[in-house]
Amino acid sequence: MPARHLYIHVPFCARRCSYCDFSIAVRSVTPIDEYLVALRAELKQVVERDDATIRNPRIAGKATRDALETVYLGGGTPSRLGGAGVASVLAAVRDHWQLARGAEITVEANPDDVNDIAVSKWVAAGVNRVSLGAQTFNDAGLQWMHRTHNSAQIARAVSILRRAGIDNISLDLIFSLPDHIGRSWPDDLKRAIDLDPSHLSLYGLTVEPMTPLGKWADRGQIVQGGEEGYEEEFLVAHDTLSAAGFEHYEVSNFAKPGKRSRHNSAYWTGVPYLAAGPSAHSFDGEVRRWNVAAYAEWMRRLAKAGPVVAGEERLTPDNRLSEAAYLGLRTSTGFLVRDPDPPYLRAWQDAGWASTTTDEGGVRVRLTPTGWLRLDSLAAYASASP
Ligand code: SF4
Repeated sequence: MPARHLYIHVPFCARRCSYCDFSIAVRSVTPIDEYLVALRAELKQVVERDDATIRNPRIAGKATRDALETVYLGGGTPSRLGGAGVASVLAAVRDHWQLARGAEITVEANPDDVNDIAVSKWVAAGVNRVSLGAQTFNDAGLQWMHRTHNSAQIARAVSILRRAGIDNISLDLIFSLPDHIGRSWPDDLKRAIDLDPSHLSLYGLTVEPMTPLGKWADRGQIVQGGEEGYEEEFLVAHDTLSAAGFEHYEVSNFAKPGKRSRHNSAYWTGVPYLAAGPSAHSFDGEVRRWNVAAYAEWMRRLAKAGPVVAGEERLTPDNRLSEAAYLGLRTSTGFLVRDPDPPYLRAWQDAGWASTTTDEGGVRVRLTPTGWLRLDSLAAYASASP
């Protein structure tokens, strides 16, 4: 199957959030022009590789590229490119690919970058979905996270997007924040639901070394609710959002009917996808590749017309099986097991971690929310006992 999905990584952020260990480029002024020159150079490399892939009879065996079904500008903070910058990125994409009718075109945005002028340009360029990094509606929490927005700007951003015609809006929220912040998770969920988003992505706070959060933890300055608190908030989110009409369709993602992220769903079904930008990952159906992560190195290589791929991995049959188990179990689609009575299944069902249905060729195993809390270990077990 040829790739119909393109991810573009935009690494810029105004400052680093306290919990973030992503490879980003902190810039007070976003170097839009130099980024665009480099991105256009990389897109040519992506096209050459894509053309070689579709001519490969084992993978696609086609003469021409397919139209893209999804384009996703992620980061970092793509909204730091402003209206004209995002439009230029999408123009560069259209220089090489057609976009399918109804293609999903997503931009990740911070609420404080959302304004009428920028959004009108995004819409004119074809953007029809925005993923807003809300994180929490608690202002003390936002300050503690070193976010650049306040809670009022979240509602304002949603209203600007709607007025411009973008109603496919996803909100990111973070749970399992330390108690001392005084954030109420049920209150955050309620305020998110009140904004009527079509999609929500929830992430549990993790303490990474080499971040301000990691240093605070080393000094004993933060106390999280532990595993129990994490599990409780995850399950509260499942119950609250399900009651509000959201489908919990992937371990971290909830959508109103028909509003699942088509781009991210492509990753979870194991189809090929293209990617450009520092640290971006791509998959051609046989080989996974990843780019150099540092913006400066990515720029340096492209300035010399050199390759930016830092590494690649050809998936073995064992890799494919592990991936199929992990990707299937993380979604509500589940994982098809050929053995009608795999040895682990009864224990999982008794523990309330999984449900099953009989499917063509085997039994389809779906994790419950309590099963999703153990996703990594259950997926490892399932792939070791197919
Ligand atoms: S905006 Fe996102 S990518 Fe940028 S520093 Fe914050 S968490 Fe990291």
